[in-house]
Amino acid sequence: MMSGILYVVATPIGNLNDITFRALETFKSVDLIASEDTRHTQGLLSHFSIEKKQFAVHQHNEKASAQKIIEYLKDGKHIALVSDAGTPNISDPGGLIVKDVAAAGFEVVPIPGVSAVTAAYSVSGMEHTSFHFYGFLPTTSSQRIKAFENLQTQSCPILFYEAPHRIIKTLNDMADFFGDKHHIVVARELTKTFESIYRGEVSKVREIIESDSNFQKGEFVILVSPMHHEKNELLSEDQHRILKILLKHMPTNAAVKLGVEILSINKNYLYDEALKIKKDD
Ligand code: SAM
Repeated sequence: MMSGILYVVATPIGNLNDITFRALETFKSVDLIASEDTRHTQGLLSHFSIEKKQFAVHQHNEKASAQKIIEYLKDGKHIALVSDAGTPNISDPGGLIVKDVAAAGFEVVPIPGVSAVTAAYSVSGMEHTSFHFYGFLPTTSSQRIKAFENLQTQSCPILFYEAPHRIIKTLNDMADFFGDKHHIVVARELTKTFESIYRGEVSKVREIIESDSNFQKGEFVILVSPMHHEKNELLSEDQHRILKILLKHMPTNAAVKLGVEILSINKNYLYDEALKIKKDD
């Protein structure tokens, strides 16, 4: 008997017309759909008049779900894996299931489509060849600041998912850490009726979102522009002193190369700082 295939299927993040033809074909052709929430997925299936048996993949027990899927695949059944919205395994269950299913030797096929992270980045107006996707920030302010500290050497935009009840608190922390004037974009309710994109300085964006409680509702992606372009005091006193010593004893390129190793700071940024130090000397 032929083994079954696991299809990992992206679904819309709001507007149901964003479903893909392949997703619908896959739902029709598989034997079963493994859903993060069967009632939620039922809404999607009913909208497209698809009748298919589902079973729940338990978010807190992906291991057991993977085992169940493997048993079905062994029986030659084809399975579609879906999360509530967007792409599975993007801040959603799926990763562990795919890992175990692939390790058990079964074929895993992506049926790509929407994700809030790519939709938000596409309209951000941030022109970079790369971005860093962080996912959900921690829930307390001190943990969020710690996360920002760990991210501060990133030289590309950073994208966060955020829940509505934390949006203002997180923007407050961003203003404290990145500075009031740091450029951000907030993408709210993408593909839905109240889709809104707020762009500008953290303080301005926060002011707009704070001005109306309706603006604090829904789903959010926060995009933070690279830090080193706007935050001049990224180097601590100690880091500055170390770079100065290195520059005193070796050519700029070598000093920057060693500096990157010692300080774990972005090379381009450190190079700019080195030039400033040389100019001031
Ligand atoms: N797997 C999904 C994806 O591919 O984007 C993400 C699931 S995660 C549990 C849900 C988070 O994604 C929300 O809290 C929000 O940060 C973001 N999100 C999902 N849908 C969104 C939308 N329509 N507009 C803005 N952000 C959205």
